Amino acid sequence: MQNDEVLNSPFTGAGGITNRQLFLNHVGQTSDSPLCLEIVKAEGCKMWDVNGKEYIDLIGGISVCNVGHRHPKVIEAIKDQLDKYLHVMVNGELILSPQTAYAKLLTDNLPASLNSVFFTASGTEATEGAMKLTKRFTGRTQIVAFKNSYHGSTQGSLSIMGDEYWRNAFRPLLPDVLHLNFNSFEDIGLITGQTACVIAETIQAEAGVVIPENNWLKTLRERCNETGTLLVLDEIQCAFGRNGTLWAFEQFDVVPDILLLGKALGGGMPLGAFIADKKLMDCLTNNPVLGHINTFGGHPVCCAAGLAALNVLLDDNLVASVKEKEQLFISLLSHSRIKKIRSRGLMIAVEFENAETNKKIIDALLQVSGDSKSPDTSPAVFTDWFLFAPQCLRIVPPLVISNEEIKQACNIIIECLDRKA
Ligand code: PMP
Repeated sequence: MQNDEVLNSPFTGAGGITNRQLFLNHVGQTSDSPLCLEIVKAEGCKMWDVNGKEYIDLIGGISVCNVGHRHPKVIEAIKDQLDKYLHVMVNGELILSPQTAYAKLLTDNLPASLNSVFFTASGTEATEGAMKLTKRFTGRTQIVAFKNSYHGSTQGSLSIMGDEYWRNAFRPLLPDVLHLNFNSFEDIGLITGQTACVIAETIQAEAGVVIPENNWLKTLRERCNETGTLLVLDEIQCAFGRNGTLWAFEQFDVVPDILLLGKALGGGMPLGAFIADKKLMDCLTNNPVLGHINTFGGHPVCCAAGLAALNVLLDDNLVASVKEKEQLFISLLSHSRIKKIRSRGLMIAVEFENAETNKKIIDALLQVSGDSKSPDTSPAVFTDWFLFAPQCLRIVPPLVISNEEIKQACNIIIECLDRKA
């Protein structure tokens, strides 16, 4: 049924109405072509829909489920916390042990200067909080960001989003934002003593996996040092082992002044954070007091889940196999219709001729029969495109994906390409 038909159909009451109709009629829609799969279970690297169809999940909630769906240790931590307390008070007033334990584990695994964690309820809120912090600390207003960057959808984050098409419909936005070209050494010279902060994704995700060139991030860091500008690295999508090291910035020999985290931070629960040196972070506590506040930031259940997920990542050394799995994907994804593959760890962009081709392939992968009761049928494969690179297929699976699952998923992709989907 077309969305229009559903929207125009009379409300038939809870008895006769399908979940699909309820979704389309009563849940705010983000696009006019939602996937509309009704998922009833997810485990590890697999998902099942209401018809019993099985999917290999190659996107893990878009870089959220790094330890897989419903990891037993994460589930156990959530259940333990449920038995103690849920929300008790706005963020920042009470001592909540899931928060303190998680802040300790995060900072123990970060450079010494990143020692204070401000928990938020989402990634975009982490971006907002960090922008405010840099303005307070430097007394400056200019924010430098990069073309094709994505930092969230609220108005501050939208102001620094690196694409005019997406920004333009919502003007007026934040003033004094300058967009530079990612990987341009020349543009770095445009950062001045007026610039409060530079915000960059360590590896640009929605641009279709764009990796900083040799020494580019180092040069950016040096320019920030020269001009007294704070460097904010957004690792909301690329942290927690995704790129083959726990933090992506480790690979480029730089340390940011502020690190933005989200997505995998909550182990499948909603959680974000900006992390800085305590001296810097303290700017938000006075003059005015309550410089950044929220109700749900650092929710105890989310922190318990995130803490368990990071422990799994570290204890099981999931990062160690990321490069090998990347190579397996790349070696198996060889086909004349694939124009290019850009990757760093398990963040992979498979480029096709154009967005239409990519869309057809994504749809065809979802159409694979996936009958979980019949051993002869292949599961469907769940993939996606990138916001600023719609011609690229997104592969960012849970890091626990097995070599068997990788081979099976790649076979299905290649068969689809052979069929000229
Ligand atoms: N930064 C990056 C790099 C992201 O990928 C995202 C989410 N796609 C965000 C920020 C915003 O996070 P959230 O959707 O949790 O607000």
